[in-house]
Amino acid sequence: MAEIHELRNFYGIEDYYTQEEKMLRNTVREFVKDKILPYIGEWWLKGEFPKHLIPEMAKLGLFGITLPEKYGGLGLGPVSYGLIMEELEYGDSGIRSFCSVHNSLAMYSIYTFGSEEQKNKYLPEMVKGKLIGCYGLTEPNAGSDPFSMETKAIKKGSKWILNGTKMWITNGSLADIAIVWAKDEEKNFHGFILEKGIKGFSSNEIKTKISMRASDTSELIMEDVEIDDSYRLPDTVGFKSCLMPLNEARYGITWGCVGSAWACFEEALNHSKERIQFKKPIASFQLTQKKLVDMFEDIIKAELLCLHLGRLKEKGKSKHYHVSLVKRNNTRVALEIARTAREILGAYGITTEYQSMRHSANLESVHTYEGTYEIHTLIVGKKLTDIDAVE
Ligand SMILES: Cc1cc2nc3c(=O)[nH]c(=O)nc-3n(C[C@H](O)[C@H](O)[C@H](O)COP(=O)(O)OP(=O)(O)OC[C@H]3O[C@@H](n4cnc5c(N)ncnc54)[C@H](O)[C@@H]3O)c2cc1C
Repeated sequence: MAEIHELRNFYGIEDYYTQEEKMLRNTVREFVKDKILPYIGEWWLKGEFPKHLIPEMAKLGLFGITLPEKYGGLGLGPVSYGLIMEELEYGDSGIRSFCSVHNSLAMYSIYTFGSEEQKNKYLPEMVKGKLIGCYGLTEPNAGSDPFSMETKAIKKGSKWILNGTKMWITNGSLADIAIVWAKDEEKNFHGFILEKGIKGFSSNEIKTKISMRASDTSELIMEDVEIDDSYRLPDTVGFKSCLMPLNEARYGITWGCVGSAWACFEEALNHSKERIQFKKPIASFQLTQKKLVDMFEDIIKAELLCLHLGRLKEKGKSKHYHVSLVKRNNTRVALEIARTAREILGAYGITTEYQSMRHSANLESVHTYEGTYEIHTLIVGKKLTDIDAVE
C-alpha cells in the first residue's frame, strides 16, 4: 500500500507545479504540521484564533503572496497562492480564512482601488502583519443580495458620515483596518478604509458559532462615523468593485477545500486500516473501500480543477463563472468527504482528537460564505442559459 505522500501524487500532479511553487508549499506544510495541527483542536473548542502566530505567518510570507515587491509582497503567481491556501486549510478552515480575508479581500481592495498614498501607507504594514485587515460587505438584511445593503455614506463637505451594521465579518474584532462598503444618497457604492479606534466604529465577536470556531467572526457597527474623503477608495467602479475581491477570495477557497478534504481522507484511510471489527480492519470491507475510493477520486478531480483554474488565472483568462464552477464543486465535495470520513471514524470521529468533524463543521461555513452553493449555481446557470435567475 502506498504511503500518504505518494497518494497525494497518485496522478503525478506534482510534475505540474514549479519548483518555486512546491518550495513555498512545503514550507507552509511544515508550519501547519508543527504549529497548527498539535493545538488546533484545543483552540477550536475554546473558540480562539491563534493570534500569536501572526508574526510567524508574516515571516513565512503568507501576507502579500501575490502583491508586487514594491509594496513588500512576494509577487508570486496564483498557483503558489492556491497551494498555500490548501496547506493552511489542511490545518483548519479558520486559519485559511484569516489569510484569505487579509490577502484577497483587504489587501487586494487597497491594491486595486486605493490611491498611491493609501497603498504606501497600509500595504507594507499589512505584509509585515503589523496591520490586519477585514472586509465588511454582508449585513444583517443583505447576504446573498449585497446590492440591497443598507449602510449609508452621506457626504458632508470633504467628510463622509457612515451609519450601518456589517455582519459575519471574518477578522472583524482582531483587525486593525476594515474595508467597508456603503451607499451614498444617489445609491452609488463606495469602499472606505476604517481604522480601529475611530469614533463611532465598534465590533462584537459572535461567540455562539459551532462552525469556524478558531476564527474571529464579528459584527461591525458604524454609528455616525465621520471620516475624511482620503479614507475612501478612489478607484472603485460601482457595485462591481464590491464583488471583484470576492472573486479573488473564492479562488483561494477552492484550493482550501482540497486541503481540508485531504486531511479528512488521510485520517479516515489511516483509521480504517487500524480499526479492527469482526476480526478484520474495517478497510477490508467493500463498503468502506467504496467510500475511500469515492473520496479519493473527488479530491483528485477537485485539485485538477484548481490547478487548471490557477493556470487560467496566470494567463489572465479566468472568468468569474470559472471560479464559481470550482467553488461550487469543491465546497460540496469537501463537505461530503468530511462527513464520510467522520462516518468511517465512528464514534471517535465526533471528538476534536480527530479532525474530520471539525473540518465538516467548518466546511458548513465555507459552503455558505463568499457566495452560497445556490448563488454559484445561478452564476454558472446564467452562463449556460443566458438567463439571469435573480434579476
Ligand atoms: C464564518 C463566516 C465568515 C464570513 N465572513 C465574511 C466576511 O469576512 N465578510 C463579509 O462581508 N461576509 C462574510 N460572511 C457572510 C457570507 O458571505 C454570507 O453568509 C453569505 O453571503 C450568505 O448570506 P446569508 O448568510 O445572509 O444567507 P442568505 O442570503 O439569507 O441565504 C439563505 C439561503 O437562501 C439561499 N438563497 C438566497 N438567495 C437565493 C436565490 N436567489 N436562489 C436560491 N437560493 C437563494 C442561499 O443560498 C441560502 O441557502 C461570512 C459568513 C460566515 C458564515
